[in-house]
Amino acid sequence: MAHGGERRSRVPRVEVVVGDSYHEAGLSFGVAHARQIARQVESYRPLYELLGFTFDEVSRRAAAELLTPADAVFGDYVDELRGRAEGAGVPFMEVFLLNCQEEVSTWVSQETWDDLERRWPSAKPGAAGVGACTTLALRAGGRTVLAHTEDWTAVDLDNGIALHDVTAPDGTRILALQSPGILPWQGMNSHGVTATANTVLSTDTHPGVPNAFVLRAALEARTLEELYRRLQTPERAIGTYVLAADASGRVWSIQTTATRASCVAVDDWVVQANHYTHDGLLPLQQQPIWPDSLGRYERAQAMVLAGLEAGEPVDELAPRVLRDHGDADGYPICVHPKGDMPAVIDQATVSAVVYEPLERRMRVCVGPPCAAQMETFSLE
Ligand SMILES: [Zn+2]
Repeated sequence: MAHGGERRSRVPRVEVVVGDSYHEAGLSFGVAHARQIARQVESYRPLYELLGFTFDEVSRRAAAELLTPADAVFGDYVDELRGRAEGAGVPFMEVFLLNCQEEVSTWVSQETWDDLERRWPSAKPGAAGVGACTTLALRAGGRTVLAHTEDWTAVDLDNGIALHDVTAPDGTRILALQSPGILPWQGMNSHGVTATANTVLSTDTHPGVPNAFVLRAALEARTLEELYRRLQTPERAIGTYVLAADASGRVWSIQTTATRASCVAVDDWVVQANHYTHDGLLPLQQQPIWPDSLGRYERAQAMVLAGLEAGEPVDELAPRVLRDHGDADGYPICVHPKGDMPAVIDQATVSAVVYEPLERRMRVCVGPPCAAQMETFSLE
């Protein structure tokens, strides 16, 4: 019970303990968070028609191209989602699709994107000011910080994002900010491994395991080496960007496509938006690169360089970059809902995190970081 004068935590912490059965763990979670899961499913429902599919079409394609491989490779996590859906009393496929948003977006035709843009100019991913995830790592003055804005559909601002405290069957624990219908896929684990993920678009995609499942498995890794191996799950459908660190302060920038991977150790700092930057993968970048991704990338790099040059402590510089609203060219890193289109296709910064891997702690907020005070969490 809260005592008088004690500040109430704004970011709820919810537990997922996986014992003998992922299905049972999902079921308990689904029952406990039924209202929020049902609300999230309901809020995503208008999406598929806006993207040019009937729900039956998208379900059939997801079942054949994504669910079958996910069941074969990561059946435990699929069982957990089945349990969540059952516990919440919603159809499993609707919960599964919440976990396949990046893959579904690769199925959308150019005509549909063009049509969306005609109706709502900021509805097309990658247009200036639309926003998407921005990530950075800074190492200076004996400190290491990773920072990330999670940009996703604006409906998730009201969908009960919480700090998930997961215990895996082998005792590995994970702290991860996530909405109730989606697997925790980025955060910090009890082995001292921290991982954040950004969408990157390549021409190398195929039917396979959705990225959410690959990232969820990687988040249980004991070392950066193991994390990199798990990110190269051969059956993966698409690629991703992961910025990862361990408790000794090592930082790795990892980029993958469906069949290729590249890893670069970060010495001083790195910034990442939503396009490939590792030489070996540049030929597989989907064209055109999002103008907004290039804009945020340059904006964040300029802020980092100026801040480091001025000797600004990295644990202050990182959150300042996350709160940035861009310069006159209009490439905000902290993104607010535009409000002039259906909320499910309106991008917003739904959460933000600053990780301190050496101290094994994370500062988090739900909603745009300019408007929220960050709260500190750890596994201790
Ligand atoms: Zn803001």
